[in-house]
Amino acid sequence: MSTPDRAAEALLRRELGDDLLTGEPLRHHTTFRIGGPADFFVTARTTDVLVQALRLAHQLGMPVFLLGGGSNLLVSDDGLRGMVIRNACERVEFDGTAAFVEGGADYLEFIAKCRDQALAGLAYAAGIPGSVGGALYGNAGCYGQDIGARVIECTVATLDGAKVETHPASWFAFEYRDTRLKREPHVILSCLLQLEAGERAAIQREMDEKLEIRRVKHPQWRTEPTAGSYFKNLPPGFQVPGLPHSPGTHRIPAGALLDACDARGLRVGDAAVFAKHANILVNAGHATARDMLALAETLKARVRAKFGVELEEEVMFLGPRPALPDAAGSPA
Ligand SMILES: Cc1cc2nc3c(=O)[nH]c(=O)nc-3n(C[C@H](O)[C@H](O)[C@H](O)COP(=O)(O)OP(=O)(O)OC[C@H]3O[C@@H](n4cnc5c(N)ncnc54)[C@H](O)[C@@H]3O)c2cc1C
Repeated sequence: MSTPDRAAEALLRRELGDDLLTGEPLRHHTTFRIGGPADFFVTARTTDVLVQALRLAHQLGMPVFLLGGGSNLLVSDDGLRGMVIRNACERVEFDGTAAFVEGGADYLEFIAKCRDQALAGLAYAAGIPGSVGGALYGNAGCYGQDIGARVIECTVATLDGAKVETHPASWFAFEYRDTRLKREPHVILSCLLQLEAGERAAIQREMDEKLEIRRVKHPQWRTEPTAGSYFKNLPPGFQVPGLPHSPGTHRIPAGALLDACDARGLRVGDAAVFAKHANILVNAGHATARDMLALAETLKARVRAKFGVELEEEVMFLGPRPALPDAAGSPA
């Protein structure tokens, strides 16, 4: 570590105490189990600490990254420079059919708390890993529904920690897997969601049904590391003769294009296409980010060659991008 970094560490340690780690391997914090070290890694358990960490990073001129559950990320083998803040703020409160929830709350645990209050509206999402903040950032969803439709307002901090503001749902421009936050990064500290009065047993049934579908069709991310769907489905209205649309979304699933290109079974090192779903990539052992990127490039090249379509990544790549071997087009 250089001298300025040592000075930065001394300041951060004084201000943040034991919540600060240096050189923390990010593979311990991503569902892909891939990722090199973060220079500085802070676990923020209160929104005050989170905003303070943002301010300190800004003061020190450090890049900062806000980590939720790490379930939509592919982190470089070289790790990340600057500060990673893990959002562990998870307060939840209910007021009638509205729920206040902090961004670091685990999404499935939050859905279970809604069930305990007999509040319906999110059971369809049971099994989407990660935090509520991460779900809001990418407007996570499935079966044609998404979390954005439930938002009344969210409280966000600017990345320099200088301002904390509350904005109505319309400000966030929730669209398919997209929000304003992707273009104007802010940290979601908390949000207010509108749910509906429901029946506890019916909500539990829907959760069980959705979890069972995922158990059968998807890798179990705790034991088969993955970041879920790697590529976005195609835009609505996009037509490819012979390929069906996804129920609910009216989009051609990226998996259908990949299946037509015989993607299942492809592998680069320990990065592999999941046997039951062509759009899910798994870390089948000790895959590196480089392996995963090389596999993804191979898949994109096949789809480009067959359909003239450019697949767009849903999983976000972070950190220094490695040079890929020429062999990326022809994996083992
Ligand atoms: C097995 C599996 C199944 C999946 N199924 C689905 C699915 O059905 N539908 C779906 O949409 N996704 C799915 N995903 C992808 C992923 O779970 C979601 O995108 C999830 O919402 C990401 O949340 P996270 O907390 O893990 O975010 P992270 O991966 O930690 O971060 C993703 C992005 O969100 C930002 N972010 C995180 N928290 C905040 C915050 N508080 N404020 C601002 N920005 C923030 C991060 O900075 C980063 O840019 C799946 C993933 C897996 C592994």
